[in-house]
Amino acid sequence: MTAATENLTEVYASIDSLVAFAERNLGLDERDADWTRNNIFALFGLDSYDVSATPAPSDEASDAEASFAYPDALIADFRAAAVAAGLFEPEEGPVYADIIMGLLSGTPSSIEDSFEEEEETDGGMEAMHWFYRYCVANNYVKKAVLDKNPRFDSHGLVVTINLAKPEFKNMKKAAAGNSVAGGYPKCTICHENEGFAGRNKRTLRTIPVTLGGEQWFWQFSPYGYFHQHGICVNMEHTPMHVDRDTFGHLLDFVDRFPGYFLGCNAALPRIGGSVLAHDHYQGGGELLPMHKAATWASFTVPEYPDATVEILDWPGTAVRVVSKNRESIVEVSDKIRLAWQQFDDAAANIASHDADGNRQSAVSPSAIITERGYEMSLIFRNNAVSEEYPEGIFHAHPEFWPIKQEPVGLIEAQGLFILPGRLVDQLGVIEDALAAGESLPESVSEFSLEWDELTAALNGSRDRDAIHAAVQDELGSVCERILGNTAVFKTKEQTRAFLANLGFNEA
Ligand SMILES: [Zn+2]
Repeated sequence: MTAATENLTEVYASIDSLVAFAERNLGLDERDADWTRNNIFALFGLDSYDVSATPAPSDEASDAEASFAYPDALIADFRAAAVAAGLFEPEEGPVYADIIMGLLSGTPSSIEDSFEEEEETDGGMEAMHWFYRYCVANNYVKKAVLDKNPRFDSHGLVVTINLAKPEFKNMKKAAAGNSVAGGYPKCTICHENEGFAGRNKRTLRTIPVTLGGEQWFWQFSPYGYFHQHGICVNMEHTPMHVDRDTFGHLLDFVDRFPGYFLGCNAALPRIGGSVLAHDHYQGGGELLPMHKAATWASFTVPEYPDATVEILDWPGTAVRVVSKNRESIVEVSDKIRLAWQQFDDAAANIASHDADGNRQSAVSPSAIITERGYEMSLIFRNNAVSEEYPEGIFHAHPEFWPIKQEPVGLIEAQGLFILPGRLVDQLGVIEDALAAGESLPESVSEFSLEWDELTAALNGSRDRDAIHAAVQDELGSVCERILGNTAVFKTKEQTRAFLANLGFNEA
């Protein structure tokens, strides 16, 4: 046997393993197995497969039935074998992984059919769980990578460090979205990306969702920030906006998927999401800290006696409308939205419009269902800038930028922070210096605020565990203060007065 054939034996074996994995976890029909294997062979001109070595069709239970089926190890084996056999260069590995997992994945229509079957039998949530497991198994959702991200609770918030996501400091880019001028598809979240090779979206699969009678679709995020994180996207490439219909859309979604939350970024640059050019919502299968936040005041609404409005005990400015009645939720939420969009208070630096008359106040709504009925949280956001804060008065202030400079979007405003991956190394340097009893190293000199607070908290202790705990506490504390920066009302009295002016009565 020559070296080249021996190398190909490994390639064939790794492809066999992937085909068997797809039969167990991706709904690949046994009748399509040879055909699919041949489609993979065709990519590389492979024609010396030993049929007698074909593994017998497996009737073992789906890997996913126990928990998640991860394709990562099989893909790694295939890439290593293919590179060793000279089929492609190591750096082409991710593209070939996308191509092959795309070939092994079901068509969008077959996945939609399976989803509907699952939903009819076991309900919307079970169907979503099935779909999520599918997107992990076909390698669209990089769950094995995500599970490696540091994540901890601190100061009532969840802090994560995202090792996979590039940092996004440039606000102007966010305003333009990830749009491609005149390109196809028009932006990174358009439905036409499903299976699109140009963006390595061959494994992307989506599920149609009807919101307010309009056609939308759901897809999971490849690098989600939390459990079953995904986006719900308008089939039309139309700009982000929050209006009266948005509340009904969010309720339609949680009615069908009652274990999920769905929310919407403020449709303004600097304080919103990274794609403003295409209307979309964010949600997923985990309640975020704000959903669970306590309240310190409660109001009744004269016209809607079945609704209450609560003020959240939360570093940002947020209220929660609670009712079992959809109509009341929509009406009361919209009343609050309209009032906030017009609210001005020069003494508090709140200007609803800039000097050119452009709107700069918006709410970020987020809906869940609990035993109390619907709960619609409304986060008050404002996009104003000043000479002192050219990046935004209600944006993370510059002293916190070493930790976080990116816009605070919907997910973070609800208390789940996604900090940049560079922090792992930077905080490591800081922890080492603290343990050695040294001064703040030059390479991380921008962390002087955090350093001073850490040395004060540690009070001379050089214990590794104590240092690590202090650093986590410091990160949570900074994130809490960043949310405080985003609060448009800095005192309880301001929030209370705003609701009282709407004719609501404090209970
Ligand atoms: Zn688009």
